[in-house]
Amino acid sequence: MKLFRSLSLILLLTITTVGFASSFPHADAVPGGIVMLPIDSNSDKAPTVTFKGHRVMVLKGDKNYAAWTAVIGVPLWAKPGQHAVDITEANHKTTQRAFTVKAKKYQEQHLIIKNKRKVNPNNQDIKRIRGERKHMDKSLDEWNNQSNINMHFIWPVKGPISSPFGLKRFYNGEARKPHSGIDIAVPKGTPIVAPADGTVINTGNYFFNGNTVFIDHGQGLKTVYCHMNTIDVKAGEKVKQGQLIGTVGATGRVTGPNLHWAVSLNEYKVDPRLFLLPAKKKAS
Ligand SMILES: [Zn+2]
Repeated sequence: MKLFRSLSLILLLTITTVGFASSFPHADAVPGGIVMLPIDSNSDKAPTVTFKGHRVMVLKGDKNYAAWTAVIGVPLWAKPGQHAVDITEANHKTTQRAFTVKAKKYQEQHLIIKNKRKVNPNNQDIKRIRGERKHMDKSLDEWNNQSNINMHFIWPVKGPISSPFGLKRFYNGEARKPHSGIDIAVPKGTPIVAPADGTVINTGNYFFNGNTVFIDHGQGLKTVYCHMNTIDVKAGEKVKQGQLIGTVGATGRVTGPNLHWAVSLNEYKVDPRLFLLPAKKKAS
């Protein structure tokens, strides 16, 4: 019994230690994807990496591979071809590193919205939308410098995906911005949980997004939940993976109840599925 208890303790300690290490998402060097760039350095201090002026996540790399790894969010509007990041070392030396973004063809989606104001807002609505955009952008550009980040997410709700990430969207026949998240169609009132530990940075009610929650997971990684019915967390609150944050609703611009779930990395929306796919098996 005593042996069993000490074995359990060792096991628990092992799990806890693993839990503290960062885990990486899946890389996919396409518009709306993620580039993982190994950075060699002799310094114990993480280099500062920026992409198009936006600060980029840098985590300790695999020692056999490289000292550091930059985890770069690629915007949906990025052109295929060469892109570059600026890397500033602790000694203030700045270098550029190039990487290649491959082309990806996203499907088209045509939607009919009955409330025409949600497609062609009036002047008063436009004023509201502009103010809200500033508020939302501010939530996404905050920087929280933590070094251990869990990027192995769980689904915030389970259900059928009614719209995948990246679709080229047309509302009542008019072209609009591509779909920057995943829509999960489940009944109103379905509980939504945090996919990973984080801090609620903001909540609000917006013209297009309806009731919305923003969670900060560290180093420019944020998740966003839209069209919610109820919001069960407050700004500043810490949340654990699996904790209830609210329920699914049909607020804002929707065709029915659904959760629009978006992931923002260095202020660019990337495909949430890159944080959900099962980890690749390593050869033993
Ligand atoms: Zn959506």
